[in-house]
Amino acid sequence: MRRWRSLGVVVGLLAAGCAAPGWRDVVFQTSTIDALLAGVYDGDLECGRLRDHGDLGIGTFDGLDGEMVLLDGVVYQVRADGKVYRPEPSMRTPFATVCRFEPQSSFDISAGSDFAVVQKLIDDVMPNQNIFIAIRITGRFHSMRTRSVPRQSRPYPPLHQVTQHQPEFEMRDVSGTIVGFRSPAYVKGINVPGYHLHFITDDRSRGGHILSLEVAAARCEVDPLYRFFLRLPESDTGFAETDLTRDRSRELQDVELGRDRPNY
Ligand SMILES: [Zn+2]
Repeated sequence: MRRWRSLGVVVGLLAAGCAAPGWRDVVFQTSTIDALLAGVYDGDLECGRLRDHGDLGIGTFDGLDGEMVLLDGVVYQVRADGKVYRPEPSMRTPFATVCRFEPQSSFDISAGSDFAVVQKLIDDVMPNQNIFIAIRITGRFHSMRTRSVPRQSRPYPPLHQVTQHQPEFEMRDVSGTIVGFRSPAYVKGINVPGYHLHFITDDRSRGGHILSLEVAAARCEVDPLYRFFLRLPESDTGFAETDLTRDRSRELQDVELGRDRPNY
């Protein structure tokens, strides 16, 4: 009886520990970018569970069915038709990165800034390239070019083949929010080194994975993250049988640049 009481105390302390300050500033990720590049598209973590780990993030859905935007704790799905859907909490994801967003700095971004300038401004404010940065940019954009990915069926092709036919969307004079991360170079193979940002309009009707943009007026908030929690697929998604030994950097570059990428 005494043993059980002791155990109860330990469990209680652990439960309290989860809410302690030591667990803040965490990047929570499920699966790896190389697994996604290799075609592990079967989701195994429910989107509803993602919200246990954060209120801001990006990812994709079961079968590679669109781009995920997690904003203010709400999961949005930008599908290949360019429209935004609200998936059920039971919808599963094969790859997602989220955090509890607590901005530590913010600054304005002036009109005419393109994607490269936005990245440079964040680098100036957050010069430590060896940590993760969560990013939220709200404002108006002269232009926003995004893409999504169409739902795939088995046998799944690798991601760089899917994105050769990706639908891209041009938006003009649009208001909305950018969310995503800057990840350190050393996460190559696990996540996307550098910037990976998704967009959703204020009216929650359009969005996607950002390829290029031009700011009209925007405010950027950033949150440095010093802890990284990687969860790996447990269920039968093909993850276990996938060869993750080789370097897929060029495939990733191909996927990130969109249809304008050089051929090789
Ligand atoms: Zn993306």
